Amino acid sequence: MPWCEGCDRYLATPTVNRDGTCPSCGRSLLAPTVEEPRVPWHFKLLVIAAGAYLAMRALQGVAWLVRQLG
Ligand SMILES: [Zn+2]
Repeated sequence: MPWCEGCDRYLATPTVNRDGTCPSCGRSLLAPTVEEPRVPWHFKLLVIAAGAYLAMRALQGVAWLVRQLG
């Protein structure tokens, strides 16, 4: 729900002008583009580690299966 600082109130989305301005005072209500939160490096590391672990486990599983069959 957009907040108009000029009118000091919230506006229902349908009441906002199509160009994103307040119908009462004409102030632009479009929120400044927020930068997308960057994925922290340790999260990427965790994903990579989890992927490597799962791949290793999968290989171990295959090796176990081969041994059972052989
Ligand atoms: Zn306004």
